[in-house]
Amino acid sequence: MDISNIEKKYKNSRFSKLFENNNVYCICHSLTTNMLYGDVIMKRIYDSFNDYKTINMVFESLENEFHLETLKQIIPQMIHKGLLIDIDEADVKSYIKKFNIGISQYKIQNMYFLITSNCNLRCKYCFVEDDNRNLKFENMTLETAQKGIDVFAKLTQEAEPITITFYGGEPLMNKEVLYATMKYIRKLEKDKVFSSPVQMTLITNGLLIDDETIKVLKETDCNVSVSIDGPQIYHDACRIDIAGKGSFERVLNSFNKLKSAGLDVGVSCTLNKFNIEHIEEITDFIIEKLAPRGMGFNILLPTINACNPVEIPDHAFASRQLIIAFEKLRRHGIYEDRVMRRVRPFSEKGFHVKDCMGVGGQIVISPSGLIGPCQAFLGVDEFFPYSVDQMHLKLEELNSDYLYNESKLFNEWRQRFPLNMKDCIDCYAISICGGGCPYAAYVNHSSIWKIDDRICYQAKQIFDWMIWDAYQNQLRLNKES
Ligand code: SF4
Ligand code: SF4
Repeated sequence: MDISNIEKKYKNSRFSKLFENNNVYCICHSLTTNMLYGDVIMKRIYDSFNDYKTINMVFESLENEFHLETLKQIIPQMIHKGLLIDIDEADVKSYIKKFNIGISQYKIQNMYFLITSNCNLRCKYCFVEDDNRNLKFENMTLETAQKGIDVFAKLTQEAEPITITFYGGEPLMNKEVLYATMKYIRKLEKDKVFSSPVQMTLITNGLLIDDETIKVLKETDCNVSVSIDGPQIYHDACRIDIAGKGSFERVLNSFNKLKSAGLDVGVSCTLNKFNIEHIEEITDFIIEKLAPRGMGFNILLPTINACNPVEIPDHAFASRQLIIAFEKLRRHGIYEDRVMRRVRPFSEKGFHVKDCMGVGGQIVISPSGLIGPCQAFLGVDEFFPYSVDQMHLKLEELNSDYLYNESKLFNEWRQRFPLNMKDCIDCYAISICGGGCPYAAYVNHSSIWKIDDRICYQAKQIFDWMIWDAYQNQLRLNKES
């Protein structure tokens, strides 16, 4: 590091952010997560470089307070880590590097396959119950399902891995078509119609699992994830059947049946106003009674008119609860997806560019064969610009580019990520956020380009937590060595 030229001017990068906790300071570059910790000297240096200054000017202003040798150690490190820049273009360059990753990520690789909109439960938070949609209960036909798979195979020619999630409604309300579709996918895979292996996952409420389901899941190597919202009292608060009866016991039975059959079962737990305060109890229940291979907490989605009867009132509280649960699950070797997808890029110095597969990576096929980017818009036709029939006629021409060139909607969605959103560019948590859910932003603020408040709180709190978690780890390692 060349500090011989102390007359050279530097200033804080636009992306250098200062954090404080109990008089420990951290300067972190929001795009690269390069960091430096220290005591109050870090703050004084940071404040000094609020505008272009020579290193010598900063030495002179701080040498009465701090040892010159210490300043000589810290400042070069800040330059090396990009926390201080000597020309504005350095920031532009760092930004463009990350932005280009986001803008070029638009190959279709995932599909939500909504095999039915019908369901045997009436969960209090489900959008199927949303009156503001043009939604009727219907099952996908086998013809539509097979055409949908043909279309998806074409759109994913450049993707790896390829993933399909069977979703609904409750997918097992249309069992015959579901099973036939799973088998059809494996046949196409065998015939090399898909360019790479397909990972399939069935998301189910568990009520209709029987021996045949287990047989087909095994035969077709399909993962399964069961929706369980915690112990009975919390699960049954929302997940009730048509007669208003709780579903907990039946779901737990099915879960155990799947496990005893040797299947690797995941758990999907929706957090809502009834269970959010009890997350530790729920986490203990998941660890002790379910012990799944993996799990994910869903933060309740708003309904299309921007409210949900069981909405969590305090997003900041929900985020803190999520971190508590993550830490506990991690101690037992269970990785919760929602927090993990933010922890990983932080610890690996990566960048979580997009949080939603609908932002340039996914199609959703509705039971009637309409194609759009997001399943939460089911029943809102303007968000489903294509149909399976229409695309199947163009099968030979299909690829990801076709979709984005032809559809304004898909093309707009693929560009919606924080590095391309003016409210987010200067955010300290941008490297782990991914921008949350465009659907939530749309229904809450009338535009997909606005912030998804639920995830905004979450990303920032997780970032704060990780900065100081990393610091504690560093202290521990220093002590051990
Ligand atoms: S917009 Fe939201 S609900 Fe829709 S696919 Fe993306 S994350 Fe899921
Ligand atoms: S949504 Fe919020 S946390 Fe995420 S990048 Fe934007 S401002 Fe930051």
